[in-house]
Amino acid sequence: MARKVLALAEIRDGSLRNVSFEAIAAAKIIAQGGEVVSVLAGESVQSYANELFFHGADRVVVVEHSHLTHYTPDGYSQALMAVIDEEKPEGIVFGHTALGKDLSPKLATKLNSGLVSDVVSVEEEGGNLIFTRPIYSGKAFEKKIATDGLIFVTVRPNNIPPLERDESRSGEVKAISADIKDLRTIVKEVVRKTTEGVDLSEAKVIVAGGRGVKSAEGFKPLQELAEVLGGAVGASRGACDAGYCDYSLQIGQTGKVVTPDLYIACGISGAIQHLAGMSNSKVIVAINKDPEANIFKVADYGIVGDLFEVVPLLTEEFKKLKV
Ligand code: FAD
Repeated sequence: MARKVLALAEIRDGSLRNVSFEAIAAAKIIAQGGEVVSVLAGESVQSYANELFFHGADRVVVVEHSHLTHYTPDGYSQALMAVIDEEKPEGIVFGHTALGKDLSPKLATKLNSGLVSDVVSVEEEGGNLIFTRPIYSGKAFEKKIATDGLIFVTVRPNNIPPLERDESRSGEVKAISADIKDLRTIVKEVVRKTTEGVDLSEAKVIVAGGRGVKSAEGFKPLQELAEVLGGAVGASRGACDAGYCDYSLQIGQTGKVVTPDLYIACGISGAIQHLAGMSNSKVIVAINKDPEANIFKVADYGIVGDLFEVVPLLTEEFKKLKV
């Protein structure tokens, strides 16, 4: 059944987040030959429309308002409700990001619709849409079948490959006006407490440190390796609790859930709560002094050794490959 499906784009620090393109790719499958409409909400955001066409959007709708400069649940709910009223979609895809996780259940509840969250793959089988999502902290996967009616979906970053960028694609941009009022939250300033460089939740490569790095200084070799690989640095809660790094780096059940192409765990024992946040990474490399460490059970490649010897060696080797 062909559907019209919306895909919400997210902008951060002046760029479209990659998950915006992954949402379009998921929307294409859900649309089953129907139309995919990207949604841009913000202030002066129309200039991002072309990039959404290049990544497969058939059409782009733009809601611009001074109250949409920063995300607020009230502001974005009102903007999205205006788009839904106008477009009457049969599906809406969000990134499984802080924004998507907050906004999608609010809208789904308002519209009495279903929500499939944290989706890692969407397939079409015999006309049915099948969504796969991890459960029990990633220890198992469940499959859900969509029924008729409006469906909300959030897609986990780094799982659904975006369509190949094609600059020959174009489409119609439509402005939708929304009367945004009665905001209960006004964002006056955003003070970011995150790492510089690559965004951890969208990084293709993550070099993560645990209590085995022993100090804040001990993270330096990990940062160097991450830099050479164009990746981000993450951490276990053990490292965060010990004060070696900021909690914004924490990966796991109570931290960020990541699925990079390559996850290098350094001095991390592999507690179940840590695995919950990274075990779906495509390739896992573990470096640990203890050959019995649990992390080796999920690792594709294991290096038994001292991370302070192994990590600089890896950095040197990768540097050679880059030249
Ligand atoms: P440790 O378990 O102390 O492991 C350190 C490892 O470093 C050891 O395996 C050791 O062999 C190795 N090592 C030491 N020196 C070196 C060296 N020089 N070279 C190589 N290896 C070395 N944890 C998370 O990570 N994320 C979460 O989101 C999270 N949520 C939690 C939620 C709850 C409700 C609870 C109860 C716990 C949670 N935890 C979480 C904590 C989790 O249970 C572990 O305590 C934590 O992951 C351990 O961190 P670690 O592996 O860095 O430390």
